[in-house]
Amino acid sequence: MFGAHLICYFLYLGFGGYRVRKVKLGWRGPEVSEICFGGLAISPLQGKVSEQEGVNLLKYAFERGITWVDTAEIYNNYSRIALALLQFPDVKVVSKSYAVTAREMKLSIENARKKLNKDIVDIFLLHEQESAHTLKGHEGAWQELQEAKSKGLVNWIGISTHAIAGVRAGALQPGLDIIHPLLNYQGLGIIDGNLQEMLKAVEFAAELGIGIYAMKVLGGGHLAKEAEKALAFVRNIEGVQALALGMSSQDEIDYNLAVFAGRDISRELRNRLKLQKRQLFIADWCQGCGSCLSVCPQGALHLDQKVSVDQKACILCGYCGRACPHFCLKII
Ligand code: SF4
Ligand code: SF4
Repeated sequence: MFGAHLICYFLYLGFGGYRVRKVKLGWRGPEVSEICFGGLAISPLQGKVSEQEGVNLLKYAFERGITWVDTAEIYNNYSRIALALLQFPDVKVVSKSYAVTAREMKLSIENARKKLNKDIVDIFLLHEQESAHTLKGHEGAWQELQEAKSKGLVNWIGISTHAIAGVRAGALQPGLDIIHPLLNYQGLGIIDGNLQEMLKAVEFAAELGIGIYAMKVLGGGHLAKEAEKALAFVRNIEGVQALALGMSSQDEIDYNLAVFAGRDISRELRNRLKLQKRQLFIADWCQGCGSCLSVCPQGALHLDQKVSVDQKACILCGYCGRACPHFCLKII
């Protein structure tokens, strides 16, 4: 078995004295920084930062040695990334699409190339593939991804998934280079089993040489109070090479860089992060199943067709996030 720590090496990058570890994503993937900028946090979907603030945050991160950004067609933030890339053309971009057919995937790739102003999209993933059955249903889109790779429009291809079955199916998918699985120390958001089963699936994929970078390491903000423990847990998983971390302030970027460099975090930075305003965010893909309502100790959640939150009543305890099978509830 190969491990993250056997295939990574250290490079000095950026300024500010930070040291960002560079890693190779699996046997076939690119060299990237161990931290990937999670682009959802600077998207209009979460609405935390303006377009210009998003661009500035990306540039701030790239100047400090973060060499790639994760986004998706649905995040609607290609223009922010494109603006930041003007100054950092070598930064790599991952995007994802829910395309089902070959035609839909072709359009998704063209859309990404055009709006990102990139001839080649570095990594392109099928978004949220939860099993072999889901992948089979997206066969047309997968074939188009392979075609795009053979034409040099995309360099590496793969899937993102919240499911153990998704990781196992992805590992066996012909031509797949990279899997972006949900991983955190409480197993929050895994839709078809527990953390131990997810770790076994990741180990299986890693043994086949698949590049793996984790998402939801902080459980959608629900583990933010124990961020160092949460980050350390995923960094120590054999076969996981990198982590996508959503960051919507310079302080969050500084904090993550310091943790990854093994540097002390100043009391001032910790205090500023504690004071950072947070709130419960409900993703627009809420299915209205109602599972989250009964676990809220404050009665802060209400259901019409979708769930809504009374922000004044919400104490950010995070219980609801654990109850949502679709990972719709995040503390941001
Ligand atoms: S974070 Fe806690 S208080 Fe807020 S809505 Fe969820 S369960 Fe209720
Ligand atoms: S559990 Fe998730 S999908 Fe169901 S109502 Fe709550 S937020 Fe929506």
